[in-house]
Amino acid sequence: MQGKFVFLGTGSSAGVPMIGCECKVCKSTSALNKRLRSAGLIQRGNTNLIIDLGPDLRTQALKYNIKHLDGALLTHAHADHIAGIDDLRAYYFVDKKKIPCILSQETFDEIKLRYHYLLLPPGPEKSFSAQVDFRLFPSDFGDYELAGIPFQYFSYFQMGMKVMGFRFGNFAYVSDIRDYSQRVVDMLQGVDILVLSALKAAPTKMHFSIEEAIAFSKLTHAKMTYLTHIGHEIDHDATNAELPSNVRLSYDGMELPIEMRTDER
Ligand SMILES: [Zn+2]
Ligand SMILES: [Zn+2]
Repeated sequence: MQGKFVFLGTGSSAGVPMIGCECKVCKSTSALNKRLRSAGLIQRGNTNLIIDLGPDLRTQALKYNIKHLDGALLTHAHADHIAGIDDLRAYYFVDKKKIPCILSQETFDEIKLRYHYLLLPPGPEKSFSAQVDFRLFPSDFGDYELAGIPFQYFSYFQMGMKVMGFRFGNFAYVSDIRDYSQRVVDMLQGVDILVLSALKAAPTKMHFSIEEAIAFSKLTHAKMTYLTHIGHEIDHDATNAELPSNVRLSYDGMELPIEMRTDER
């Protein structure tokens, strides 16, 4: 079954340009150097699944004309991945349907603290907030289906925080990865298209460097790897020119055709 992945945002937690920064990339006029916070859209026919609900969700929904959502998948609870959750309410105003949101127990625990009002029982206080049908991943690795779209999920870590990654057929989305088990590498074997986070040239405690991302992508034998969650040190054209031919920087609005092998299950 054919589908499509759209990069709704490819930036680091601060976005690019970064507030107040005068660096060359932040001041660049190239659209390829403008990065909203990382998020993605899986599309199959009329079905839309969003990966992450970052602080730029409203901007992304308007920019890419996302008129309805059939589900959301959350990677983890850092603000650059969930701080747009309130904007889901706009979809409820239109569709009157709770949006299923699949997440780990750890992410749910954070959401309960930061967005406690999303979990109020139905009533007047609740009626103006986003209406979300939270569903927990039953384990750290497995299969799941959302809005009729099957996928595999797996977990890894970013400075002690559990992060979920997703594989839809020949495509996988792996963001905010720092520490991982061999099982993650195993689950990514045979993937054609790998979306992988890499913050900048030097490694950090939270993120792969570009070099580390290339090394990881080699372990998976992905045919093509697209780097995302890119910081403001990275100029699109200059960096792409130095990358191996099967590794590219992604950019906001980039679309990739994907093959969702529903027969895998
Ligand atoms: Zn992040
Ligand atoms: Zn900058």
